[in-house]
Amino acid sequence: MISINNLRKFFGTNEILKGINLDVKNGEVLVIIGPSGSGKSTLLRCIKGLERPDSGTIYIEGQKLDERNKNYRVLQQEIGMVFQHFNLFPHMTALQNVIEGPITVKKMPRDKAIEKGLNLLKKVGLLDKKDEYPSRLSGGQKQRVAIARALAMQPKIMLFDEPTSALDPELVQEVLNVMKELAGEGMTMIVVTHEMGFAKEVADKVVFMDDGMILEEGSPNVIFSDPKHIRTRNFLGKII
Ligand code: ATP
Ligand code: MG
Repeated sequence: MISINNLRKFFGTNEILKGINLDVKNGEVLVIIGPSGSGKSTLLRCIKGLERPDSGTIYIEGQKLDERNKNYRVLQQEIGMVFQHFNLFPHMTALQNVIEGPITVKKMPRDKAIEKGLNLLKKVGLLDKKDEYPSRLSGGQKQRVAIARALAMQPKIMLFDEPTSALDPELVQEVLNVMKELAGEGMTMIVVTHEMGFAKEVADKVVFMDDGMILEEGSPNVIFSDPKHIRTRNFLGKII
């Protein structure tokens, strides 16, 4: 489904991704952990096409993610991304946020977009907030609208970049529950998170990134209870 080969990315002279190799199968949930600055967000941004890698390849369902391909935009639309800071359109209601992409990008008829949008808001438990503006929503509610908005584009893959780390602790679970449900439905997901409970319960595979490299990967059981690398052990010791 997703196949990443020897991906490298520089910012100026700093090598941020130092040859990443990663495969994610259909329906798998991959959790990425690692210290601040290790390149986790940059990796997700490369997969979403928000950063251009300097070398290496990313294949999505056998198709190369490359600006020169004529199906590049379509491929990019098939990847949904949810950010730490929600990034909702502040001047639009929850429902307007959700239907904007389908109407403007996918050219979906407005009434159909609204019908789908309402279903998605229901799915994330926010039907009653459909006419609220983001400023009147809690962080957890904003993030659930952001998830509904990404799902409205009917992605094949969902990327989550620390979706709960800007939330008050009591709001974390409502967002994780939506993500768990999505995983249960078979969505292919890559999730950067330090929520170890979520990783243990939901991840098929956990990757530990450090300094632009994948140092270790394995099942959550193995990574959390028997990490091979001293740096993984140190990192886990700090966050658990
Ligand atoms: P965090 O856990 O803090 O979110 P991260 O693992 O997501 O960290 P990245 O945001 O991918 O790390 O950043 C990796 C490195 O790349 C950092 O040293 C950062 O300063 C640098 N970097 C990221 N984006 C840019 C940019 N646009 N220009 C220059 N340097 C950047
Ligand atoms: Mg980051």
